[in-house]
Amino acid sequence: METLRQRLRSIDQKGYKAYKTIEGTYSFPLFTLAIDHVQGDPFAEPSKVRVIIPRAKTALAAEWMNTKPRRIRCEDVLARRIYHELRQWPLRARGSGKSGLVLIDAPEQKVLERTAVQVTDETVTVCLSVGLPANGRRILAKEAEAIFFEQIPSVIERAVYGLREEDIRAAVELADQQHAIRRYLREHGLVAFVANGAVLPRESGVSDKPLQRGAVPFQSPPELEIAIPVPHRAEPIKGMGIRKGITLIVGGGYHGKSTLLQALEHGVYDHVAGDGREFVITDSGAVKIRAEDGRSVASVDISPLIGTLPYGKETKQFSTENASGSTSQAASMIEMIEAGASAFLIDEDTSATNLLIRDGRMQALVVKDAEPITPYIDKARQLFRDYGISTVLVVGGLGDYLDIADCVIKMEQYVPFDVTAEAKQIALQMPSGRKAEGGESFGCIHERIPLPGSLNSQKGKKEKAVARGRHVIQYGQTDLLLYALEQLVDDSQTRAIVAALLYMERKGWFDGKKTVRQLLDAIEEQWDRQGLGSVSFRKGHPGELARPRRFELAAALNRLRTLRCRQ
Ligand code: ADP
Ligand code: MG
Repeated sequence: METLRQRLRSIDQKGYKAYKTIEGTYSFPLFTLAIDHVQGDPFAEPSKVRVIIPRAKTALAAEWMNTKPRRIRCEDVLARRIYHELRQWPLRARGSGKSGLVLIDAPEQKVLERTAVQVTDETVTVCLSVGLPANGRRILAKEAEAIFFEQIPSVIERAVYGLREEDIRAAVELADQQHAIRRYLREHGLVAFVANGAVLPRESGVSDKPLQRGAVPFQSPPELEIAIPVPHRAEPIKGMGIRKGITLIVGGGYHGKSTLLQALEHGVYDHVAGDGREFVITDSGAVKIRAEDGRSVASVDISPLIGTLPYGKETKQFSTENASGSTSQAASMIEMIEAGASAFLIDEDTSATNLLIRDGRMQALVVKDAEPITPYIDKARQLFRDYGISTVLVVGGLGDYLDIADCVIKMEQYVPFDVTAEAKQIALQMPSGRKAEGGESFGCIHERIPLPGSLNSQKGKKEKAVARGRHVIQYGQTDLLLYALEQLVDDSQTRAIVAALLYMERKGWFDGKKTVRQLLDAIEEQWDRQGLGSVSFRKGHPGELARPRRFELAAALNRLRTLRCRQ
C-alpha cells in the first residue's frame, strides 16, 4: 500500500508512460489491489484494476452461493451496489481524456453471468476500469492517490463490507423462483410462461426498462392458465403456459402481439425485481428467427426449405455473400437447428413472407417445379416431430396457419384470449385451398465443419478483434454485423463473443475436424468449468464480459464473412 503511494508520488508530473511502473499488486487493510494493466495514454481505454476481498469478511454466507444461479445473483447484487456507490462520486476527477473515471461493468435489466464481480468460496473479486488522471499527458499523482486511497476503499467498504443479509436475500430468493419455473417448464412440456401481472411493454423502442404509465398488466386466459409452485412463497405463481408444439399469436395491428413475442425472446434471461418480466420465463433454447437480407451464409444445407435456385444453383451447400430475405431466414433456421435450438420465435413483421406462406392461388399460378421455396407452413409440423423444435409465431394476416396450430392466442387491446377452438372451426369451414408441399419429414441437417483459416484476426501486421458497441465486431479484415440478433442483450456479451472467437482461433480449435456444434459445446464447457474470464488472454482482469448464449455465439460465427465450411 505504501509502495503504491510512494510510486505515485515519485511519478507526479512526469510523462504518462511512467504510470506503467504502478502495475502490480498491493495490500490494503480491507483488500488486495491488483493494477493489472495501465492504459497507454489518458485517451485510451481505461486501466484495468481488480479489488480482491476475502469472502469470509463479508456477509456473503456460503448458503447464498450454493448453486450457480444463486452465486450469479450474489455477484449481480454486488455489481449493482458498487455501481450505485461509484455514482455518488463525481464522474471525473479532473484532467484530460478519461482522467478520473472509475467504472464497473454494471448490469441493467437482465441478470447475466459477468466478470465484473466474481465470487468464489474464498474471495470476492471486483473488476474496475480506472482512467488514470493526467493534465494533458502529465501525470496527476494526487488525483490518482485519491482514487486508490479514498474513492475505491470507500466504495468497497460501503458496497461490499456494508452488504447485509437482507440486501441479498430477496434477490437470491427471486433467483430460486426463476430457476424453479425454468425447471418446471422443462419437466412439463412447456416452452414459456408469462405470469399474471407481468408488465411486458417497454418504455420505448430503445429502452429495456418497463413502460411506466398506462401498461396493461398481463392476465392469462383461463384455458391456458397454469400454477407453478415455487420456493419462498406459499402460493404458486399463476400465469399463461405456452406448450410445446405450434403456437400462434394473432390479433389486430397494434394490439400487443410483437410485444408479447419480444417478452418471450427476452425471457431466456432472468430479469431483476421491478422489471415487470421477472416471471416471464422462456426455455433457454428458444431462438428468434428473422429475415436479414444481405448477410453472408457459409455452406448451409437449406434444401429442406429452399430447393434448387434459378440457373441450377444447388442449396445443399448454400453459400452467399448477399442472402435474400427468404434464403437468409432459411439459413438462420438451419443454423439454429445445428446449434441445438428448442423453439423458434418468429414474427410475421420481420419475416420473408414467401418463406412463411404460398397460398392456394399462388400454388395454382406458379407450379411447384418453378418455386424453390417450401414454405414454413408445410415444415413447422415436421420440424417439431423430427427435431423437437416448437414454433411460436406472430401472424396478423396469414390465416392459412390456423390449419397447423396447436394453440391460438388472440391479443385484443393487450389482453390475450385462447381462440384455439374458434380457429379450428374456421379452418374447417373455410378451407385454405392449399396443397401441402412439405413431404413426410423435415429433411436431414448436415452438420458443418469450419475450415482452418475461417477465423483470421490479422489486419495487416496487427491483430484486430474488437467489439464496437453491441452490434458491430471488427474481426481482422471484416466487419461482423449483429444487428439482427435480438437476443443479444448486453454490450459485454458482444465482448465475450469476440474473446471466444479469438480464443478458438489462437487455440487452433478450427482444425477442419470439429463441427460447429462441437465447438459451441467446447466453449460452453470451458465457461462452465473454468469461468467466463478463462477465454481472455489478459492476465488478471479479464475485461468486461457477460456470458452470451451458444446461439448468439453461433450466430456471430455464422455471419463471419471469412467462414468457410465443409459438411
Ligand atoms: P402488434 O405487434 O400487435 O402490432 P405491438 O406489440 O407492436 O403490436 O404493440 C403496439 C404498441 O402497444 C407498442 O407501442 C407497445 O409498447 C404497446 N403495448 C403493447 N402491450 C402493451 C400493454 N400490455 N400495455 C400497454 N401498452 C402496450
Ligand atoms: Mg407487430
